[in-house]
Formats: sequence, C-alpha cells, structure tokens
Amino acid sequence: MIISRNPYTGEEVARLKESTKTEIDTILEAASKRFETWKKTDFKHRADLMKNAARELISNKQEYAETITKEMGKPISQSIAEVEKCAWVCEYYAENAEKHLAAENVKTDAQKSYISYEPIGVVLAVMPWNYPFWQVFRFAAPALMAGNIGVLKHASNVMQSANNIQKIFEKAGFPKGCFQNIPVGSDKVESIIRDKRVKAVTLTGSNSAGSDVASVAGEEIKKSVLELGGSNALVVFKDANIEETVKTCIQARFQNTGQSCIAGKRLILDESIAEKFLELFLKQARELKSGDPMDKDTFIGVMAREDLAKDLEDQVQQSVKAGAKIILGGKRTGTYFEPTIITGVTPNMAVFKEETFGPVLSVTTFKNEKEAIQLVNTSSFGLGVSVFTRDIKHIEDLVPEFEDGAVFINELVKSDPRLPFGGTKASGYGRELSIQGIREFVNIKTVYFK
Ligand code: NAP
Repeated sequence: MIISRNPYTGEEVARLKESTKTEIDTILEAASKRFETWKKTDFKHRADLMKNAARELISNKQEYAETITKEMGKPISQSIAEVEKCAWVCEYYAENAEKHLAAENVKTDAQKSYISYEPIGVVLAVMPWNYPFWQVFRFAAPALMAGNIGVLKHASNVMQSANNIQKIFEKAGFPKGCFQNIPVGSDKVESIIRDKRVKAVTLTGSNSAGSDVASVAGEEIKKSVLELGGSNALVVFKDANIEETVKTCIQARFQNTGQSCIAGKRLILDESIAEKFLELFLKQARELKSGDPMDKDTFIGVMAREDLAKDLEDQVQQSVKAGAKIILGGKRTGTYFEPTIITGVTPNMAVFKEETFGPVLSVTTFKNEKEAIQLVNTSSFGLGVSVFTRDIKHIEDLVPEFEDGAVFINELVKSDPRLPFGGTKASGYGRELSIQGIREFVNIKTVYFK
C-alpha cells in the first residue's frame, strides 16, 4: 500500500494499492501501443487536447489544490497558484510546440538536407513531492506535444495528486495510455527503466535518486535528464535597493515553506550593509504568517514529512556547533519548522555546503566582488543565482563568472515556460521548458538527399 498522510493533521489522505509486476507490464504495454498511433497525430489535434487540459486545471483548481495541500502541507493559496501555472505551461506548448519542432532546412552540398525532430516513445518521469503538479506538467506538456508518451512514478507521499494528473489528461480527451501514473515505490524504478518499451527517463529529485537513476539509464544507454538539488545564492551588493531586495529575498527563501530546489538558500551580503539589511529582513521574516495550510492567509505551512524536518534540524544544529548563530527561529515542532535565520555561516558548515530543504536561511558576508563570486561558485550545486545591484552594466559583464544554470538580476530565480530551466554541477544536466526542454526527448534526425 502507498499511503499519503496530511503532514499538518496527521490524517490519512489516500491509500493506493501498489502496482504488481503484471499491472506494470499492462501499463507499459498500453503506453507503447498508444505511441504507434499518437506519434502520427498532428500538432493541431494535440494542441486542442492540451488546451482542454489547461481549461480542466483552471475549472477545478480549488479541488486539485486542496489535494496538494492535504498531501504535502503547501499553503492553499500557493497550491492554487501552482495549478494555475500548470495551465500556463499547457497553453505555452499548445501554442509553440509545432514551431519548436518544425523541420529545419540546412544548406549543404546535398540537393536537399534538413533536420527533423521526431518523438522517441515512452518516457518515464520520476518526480518529487514539493511541487506535485508543476514538476509533472512541465515534463508532460512538452512530452505529449512532441508526440511522446508519459509514464509517471511520482513521490510516494503525493500519489492522490499523481492520480489526479492522469485523470486531467483523460478528461481533456488524450487517448488512453498517453499519460499513466504507475503507483509504485522507488524500488520499482530500476526495472521500469530497464524495460525495452521505455526509451528515456527524466528525474526531478535528490542527488542520490538522480545518481541511481542515471546509472541504470547509462547501463541501458538510454537518455536521461536530471533536475536535482540546489543551494542558490542571493548575492546583495552594497548599491542594491535594500527595501526591494529584502522583499524579494523573503519570497525567494520562504515560499513553499522553503522546500524548493531554486529557493535562495544562502544569503551572501556585502559586509558594509549587512547590519541594515538584516534588521529589515528580520522584521519581515517575523511577520510571515505560519498556520493551517488550508487557511488562505497562511504563508508558512508545514514541511512535507517529519523525517525531512528532522534532517533540517540536524543541519542547523551541526552548523551552530561549528560556530554559526541563530538570530531567528531554529525550533521544530513535529512537521512545523520556524522561519530561521543563521548568521556567521562559513563554507564548511552544513547549512552552506548542503542543500537546506526548508525555511532556513544562512547568512555569509563578503568584503569584495571577487570573494562574493567565489562564495557563490564554491557550492557543489549550480542551479541558479540571484544578484542584487543597481549597476546593471557592470553585473552584465560579470554574468559569465557564475557557474550556475541561471543568473537572475534583481529577481528571485523562477521557472517560466518561455525560458530554459536546469542546472550545472551536482544540480543535474539537461533542460526543461522552452525550446530546449521539448527537444530533450526527440530524435534529432538528419535527412539528406544526394
Ligand atoms: P527524492 O527523495 O529524490 O524523490 C524524488 C523521486 O525519486 C520520488 O518519486 C522518489 O520516490 C524517487 N526516488 C527516490 N529514491 C530513488 C532511487 N534510489 N531510485 C529511483 N527513484 C528514487 O526527492 P524529494 O525528497 O521528493 O524531493 C526533494 C529533492 O528534489 C530536493 O533535493 C530538491 O532540490 C529536488 N528538486 C529539484 C528540482 C529541480 O528542478 N532541479 C525541483 C524540485 C525538487 P519515493 O517517494 O517513492 O521515494
């Protein structure tokens, strides 16, 4: 049985029977058979269905959002925003997939030569619980529009949401088998990747899961995309607009109760403005409303599972032992973790070198630009960085110095269907969203007429 439990109330939300070997086989067979017809459909037809999916999401956003909130504790207003964003990515690919995958003529010594982008078949998506809808839709919308088929292995604590996603595509009119949830634990992932009917795998999740999945995919010579952890820096130079920057950094660290791969986890402050900045930051962090995730005014909910909250507590305690100082919060009660700020953090401390997946902000100061860039790049992760300054010309010259997959100036790192999303170093490889995302799982075919 796969059980999801409300992390705020402790009540059971859903209980799903885990698929047996035979049931997995039936799902993969249906997926692979469906590919034979789905790949021949035209973009117009696929786009009509994808627009239906967007409409279904918007029409029933409250219901889908409530399940998200019950399963993983995200404040309801943020769950509704997540469902709305999924409708956006469906609309985006409905509008743009044909253009992104149009054949491209290339002038060579042939009579005619061109590149054609063709679907590859069944793609397995292994997904995390932190954005139970968004992570799946940002894979599924481009995959289905490209003519591929999706099978989903979702995180075990959000299986009701996983089932809802399958139903959304069915209600939208996608033929049976186009998108199926496989309710299984992570121990079944290896055999699914090895199955001949599965052509590629994408995983969003932790580094250890990514490494396991990529190893199996590598052995089978199957394409993989990995969207893994992050420890984004928020770099504040002394000429930044402090009030605006504080507001943005609060959002960057504490939205989704801090459980986001692209959250700004390490605040890296010019030491000459550190005192003033932290005074304002503390004031705003104290005002964040914690409470029942179902209450629309709640901003800080609970963490998705108690074991995750305990891991975070451990990282905080280790860092304090190593000399860091808690200036706000620091306490955990069950799945609730207070918004926490830790100063005096150095690169050898757990809250700096590891990913903190909850509402904990580490603060480190720098004396000059070179030191700031070194602090950003010393992380083993490379998902994104936010830099705050008024000197736009100078910062643009510095962009190549950052090793991350994204550099956002005066803004928090966020995903947008129109821009590619993905990391470097331990944050993974490959890209989702935009034209790069839809081209990850296609056969880039060279066609040549002598
Ligand atoms: P997780 O424990 O790695 O789980 C992610 C998914 O992988 C789940 O479906 C999980 O299934 C499965 N899984 C776990 N271990 C596996 C293994 N050894 N082999 C195959 N599958 C395995 O991660 P999480 O706790 O759900 O999510 C948090 C992590 O995801 C953080 O590190 C976060 O930064 C990262 N993340 C990255 C991005 C990005 O875009 N880069 C976005 C969001 C989250 P079970 O639930 O059944 O264990």
